[in-house]
Amino acid sequence: MRRKYICGNWKMNKTSSEALAFANKINDFEFENVDVLIAPSFVSLESFKKSVKDKIEVAAQNVSEFDDGAFTGEVSTNMLKDIGVRNVIIGHSERREKFLESDEIVNAKIKRALSDNLFVILCLGESLEIKEENKELDFVKNELLNSLSGVENLKNIAIAYEPIWAIGTGKTCSPEDAEKMCREIREIINKNYGEISKEIRILYGGSVKPSNAKEILAKENIDGVLVGGASLDVNDFIEIIKCGE
Ligand code: 13P
Repeated sequence: MRRKYICGNWKMNKTSSEALAFANKINDFEFENVDVLIAPSFVSLESFKKSVKDKIEVAAQNVSEFDDGAFTGEVSTNMLKDIGVRNVIIGHSERREKFLESDEIVNAKIKRALSDNLFVILCLGESLEIKEENKELDFVKNELLNSLSGVENLKNIAIAYEPIWAIGTGKTCSPEDAEKMCREIREIINKNYGEISKEIRILYGGSVKPSNAKEILAKENIDGVLVGGASLDVNDFIEIIKCGE
């Protein structure tokens, strides 16, 4: 039985004091049957981690593929572990598109993170152009297998399917289409990695909000959501958590 995973990706939003105000509010909210994770910016990771209750997991939104050294502006897995952060989002489409992260870079980051015992949320998803050419299945399959090339064990990985055309646009992928792709991803994992496909959590992301989360989370192969915009408002995020209970 896969527990639902409700994850918030704040992207480049919230100062540290805004993050603390969020922590104080969400700490009062009790939940039982779901796992909850929030990814603030690097700057507020440490203070947010200290102020939020232990039950809420904290993730970085990115990490370097390199060990500590001369890499100005980068943050290492070592630094994350030192402040108690055990999770990292890798391969978000904004990193791939705006910061030119290729599948090879994503793959190197995943290997670096796993070798340092971090848990990885790997993001995948096609652009509108690819969807309009009906090539989204092939695209996502390639992105998945390239990103995981040489990775032998998926036990510390979750996958987030986030169609780029549904991110921040208000256009949600229909729950049926999201389920279809998540089922497809599970089948590809089954073919390539076997039994772990039954345990691995596959999330959907893209314009998830309180009004559509329940229907999305009800789908058999969708084990959680990765929420951008609606995770910034603590009340909206709490409503989404309730949809996973
Ligand atoms: P939105 O929920 O704002 O569409 O963002 C989704 C996302 O990119 C989460 O990583």
